[in-house]
Amino acid sequence: MATIITHVAVPLVLRMGIGKAKVSTQLLIVACFAAVLPDADVIAFKLGIPYASSFGHRGFSHSLLAAALVGILASICYKPLKSDPKWAFFIVSLSMASHGVLDSFTNGGLGIAFLWPESNHRYFLPWRPIEVSPIGIKNFFTARGLQVILSEIVWVWFPCLTIGVFSSLLRKTLKRRRENNVSFNVSHRL
Ligand SMILES: [Zn+2]
Repeated sequence: MATIITHVAVPLVLRMGIGKAKVSTQLLIVACFAAVLPDADVIAFKLGIPYASSFGHRGFSHSLLAAALVGILASICYKPLKSDPKWAFFIVSLSMASHGVLDSFTNGGLGIAFLWPESNHRYFLPWRPIEVSPIGIKNFFTARGLQVILSEIVWVWFPCLTIGVFSSLLRKTLKRRRENNVSFNVSHRL
């Protein structure tokens, strides 16, 4: 896995790019939770479930179906999220699906069962620059843990922040242009 903190980079970028009018703070919090949720499956190690099993780490919980189901749940509960069903589904399911995508960029462990239950095949992307994160808190505060954080800053946080800043600027520019066009049309009609 990439580290838990790094998985929230995707919902944060979605909020920066789309804006808080559509991605409320409540929806952002749920999306951050959805982005880290798949790694709750590390409990499988304690339960003696084999890594390669569908119910092992990076199995069903990292699949696109699981992301879609959690997105549907969010779309049903859209009211407390101060959103609408479409945006609640889109933001939450995309945030959760991004977890598996980021994991598939890592250079260790088994791949991701994206297509579960159709197949338990474990997929990696052909290019895997992100250092795989150690499992367990105590393994994290080591030289290896530092190496993982540096790799995630370079390969996840920096590109995500760049996309977030540029998409936010683009959205604000387009909004300003729309508002200017509206006031121009109104003043011409008067
Ligand atoms: Zn994971």
